[in-house]
Amino acid sequence: MDASTPVGLTVHEARSLLDSREVSSEELTRAALDRIGHLEERVRAFVTVTPELAISQAREADRRIAAGDSAPLTGVPMQLKDNMATRGVATTCSSRMLEGFVPPYDATVTRRLYDQAAVLVGKGNLDEFAMGSSTENSAFFPTRNPWDLDRVPGGSSGGPAAAVAASECLYSLGSDTGGSIRQPASLCGVVGLKPTYGLVSRYGLVAFASSLDQIGPITKDVADCALVLNAIAGHDPKDSTSLSVNPPNYTESLGKDLRGLRIGVPTEYFVDGMDPEVERSTRASIALLERLGAEVEETSLPHTSYALAVYYILAPSECSANLARYDGVKYGFSDQDADSMWDALERTRAQGFGPEVKRRVMLGTYALSAGYYDAFYLKAQQVRTIIRKEFQTAFERFDAIVSATSPTTAFRLGEKTADPVQMYLSDVLTLPANIAGIPGISVPSGLSKDGLPIGFQILTAALGEQTMFRIAHAFEQASDWNGQTPQL
Ligand code: GLN
Repeated sequence: MDASTPVGLTVHEARSLLDSREVSSEELTRAALDRIGHLEERVRAFVTVTPELAISQAREADRRIAAGDSAPLTGVPMQLKDNMATRGVATTCSSRMLEGFVPPYDATVTRRLYDQAAVLVGKGNLDEFAMGSSTENSAFFPTRNPWDLDRVPGGSSGGPAAAVAASECLYSLGSDTGGSIRQPASLCGVVGLKPTYGLVSRYGLVAFASSLDQIGPITKDVADCALVLNAIAGHDPKDSTSLSVNPPNYTESLGKDLRGLRIGVPTEYFVDGMDPEVERSTRASIALLERLGAEVEETSLPHTSYALAVYYILAPSECSANLARYDGVKYGFSDQDADSMWDALERTRAQGFGPEVKRRVMLGTYALSAGYYDAFYLKAQQVRTIIRKEFQTAFERFDAIVSATSPTTAFRLGEKTADPVQMYLSDVLTLPANIAGIPGISVPSGLSKDGLPIGFQILTAALGEQTMFRIAHAFEQASDWNGQTPQL
């Protein structure tokens, strides 16, 4: 360990130092807070920093460690994306609508991490209500990519990915509706996992598109990802979409070889407009899996090209319903300077929401309206079923499907803000997994000539996380990535 930057540690490295008392949680937490203080002016990954809470949680963690009662995440400083409820700590969704909103309860994921005496150092910036791919839709400020501060970190979990890449915390949680964990993880050179739909409770996650949303870990390496998923996965009676499963210990999937595994490479995932460096890196990653003993075969998922269209009907439709609750009455921003109730509602929503959120609400309301419902929403649901079945059939032949995570490396701030469709195309390779409800992980696979991270995506059948960890870990150990971090 480099004693001057203990926050550069992974969770599992920190664990052994904490348990052997070489470092205390309070020291580790102070180091993280110092680093946040030193870097935030440039990176801006945090909407809120919680120093007092963090120090008091760290002292509690140190007591637990002293009592020999530590869990894998005890005393380890972390961040939560700012769309997950934290009792007593503002939860804004990076929206004016919820600016200053302090939830009276914890999300289940927050609770589960606190149960292990984890330490919250702050809340991560995001595209407003998780709608976007660059974090430029945050109503407060954009986050910058720690590898190149003129570039975006991806989104919508850009704050979490940037914070982990910059070692401002040891891990974070993101949410992924169409790629919002995996795409920023890819652009920031960290590991990001979207679990199977229903594996992690969404109680206390501010809803965007409920049939697609999932919470998952953003970490420095695959072993950490397994530790964090172990902590947050599992049934929750408070979330009716939560699966009734007893999750295994994902750490047990690490360190196994790949012999006998069958891996499919869908030709459609080498999309038009893919950066040639991303394509080269992806082909090299596939060759590496082959050298590790996997049987690799080209395959076809012919309905892939419809996934984007399906997503941009279903996600806005669900968002238009979910965001109807922001009416200025119960909580959040409220403009009561109006003549009538309807007028107040209109003024509240006109000022409280930013342009992308309004665009989604309008698209969704249109797709759900009488006369258009069958042509858009119903049609999209039918194509969703076809895409889901296409994956099911593919997973009869393959243990996993692999591709690039994002067609490009991190783009410049402002480069895609004027053209929403260009921005939407950033997620073509990630959103099919949300449509099908299957898990996906992004693992760093290399750096471009410009020194920008490239990510490799592994998809498996629903509840195939063990196979996913097995492949991701073997890949990580054999690749020459070696836990690189940006120079800041
Ligand atoms: N970029 C996609 C969107 O804007 C996905 C966002 C997400 O996964 N939350 O909808």
